[in-house]
Amino acid sequence: MGQKLDLELISLTKRYGSTVAVDSIGYHFSAGTYACLLGPSGCGKSSTLRMIAGHESVSDGSITLGGRDISDLPPAKRGTAMMFQNYALFPHLNVRDNVAFSLKMQGIDTAKRHARANEMLELVDMTALADRLPAQLSGGQQQRAALARALITKPDVLLLDEPLSALDPFLRIRMRAELKKLQRELGITFVHVTHGQDEALALADEIVVMNNAVIEQAGNTRTVFDAPRTAFVARFLGSHNVVSMPEGMLAVRSDALKITNPNGAKLPGTITNIEYQGTHVALTAAVPGEQEVTALLSDKDFFGNPKELGEAIGLDWEAEAARALAQ
Ligand code: ADP
Ligand code: MG
Repeated sequence: MGQKLDLELISLTKRYGSTVAVDSIGYHFSAGTYACLLGPSGCGKSSTLRMIAGHESVSDGSITLGGRDISDLPPAKRGTAMMFQNYALFPHLNVRDNVAFSLKMQGIDTAKRHARANEMLELVDMTALADRLPAQLSGGQQQRAALARALITKPDVLLLDEPLSALDPFLRIRMRAELKKLQRELGITFVHVTHGQDEALALADEIVVMNNAVIEQAGNTRTVFDAPRTAFVARFLGSHNVVSMPEGMLAVRSDALKITNPNGAKLPGTITNIEYQGTHVALTAAVPGEQEVTALLSDKDFFGNPKELGEAIGLDWEAEAARALAQ
């Protein structure tokens, strides 16, 4: 497979006419990392990925792979490969020929390219379905075929744009485990675009949170989750409360909130919702300043001391569980 090369984005910018889709972003992806670009629709994730792939021109700044500037190279010469959201398989070609397609374009003979396609199909566990047409495959199988087709070029970096969004929720969770396993086995860099925080947390070694064409926060996934720097990051990652206190704005994880008596608690509140989630109970309370906070309690904690809608409670947390936010 590919080599171990770092990918770097340097003041990378994309403009479409007067729209600035990506605004001078910088990030260093270490070789062999599973990175997720996470952010709401329209924040510039796909534009960033397409510039890395070479499917979109760079307006300003540059992209280097292993120190080599690849910004102006054609897609096939970059050492990257892209897997598209809708898989983009050719409907009239069987799976093997779909996978072998880029080798055919390179003029590699049939026997050789079929042998390579078979290797890739083995890698994604699709050997038995090599002679089928895309229409004869399930969504998960089409995804594997698309993966094999992207990997046959031996990329150093695999780029995936919302690769799981066409799958039903059950299959999505299974396929994401397979993506992670494949990335570990290959040891190459995966850059995976998603707007789903669960997906990003489950997969990513490194997370790049984008908003309005810029990177809000990036780094080790657990570090970012544990210490969001802005209200946007805390809210977008979920499982955090953003609360305005006299000392400033704070992020407090839902699972760090404790239910106490209204007197003497950091926040007095009134219960507005109780949601049973099986292993946990999510208890939402209205607190001063027209704010709402949610506490995630274990089922034992909640049912050991059950509360009712409308009940007055106190909400407390350990000082070290709160993170000061920049805005
Ligand atoms: P995301 O993938 O995060 O949803 P995109 O990178 O697709 O975001 O889009 C970022 C911004 O650029 C959006 O405002 C979008 O409307 C705009 N945009 C994307 N592609 C084009 C294009 N080909 N022409 C004009 N504007 C575009
Ligand atoms: Mg997109």
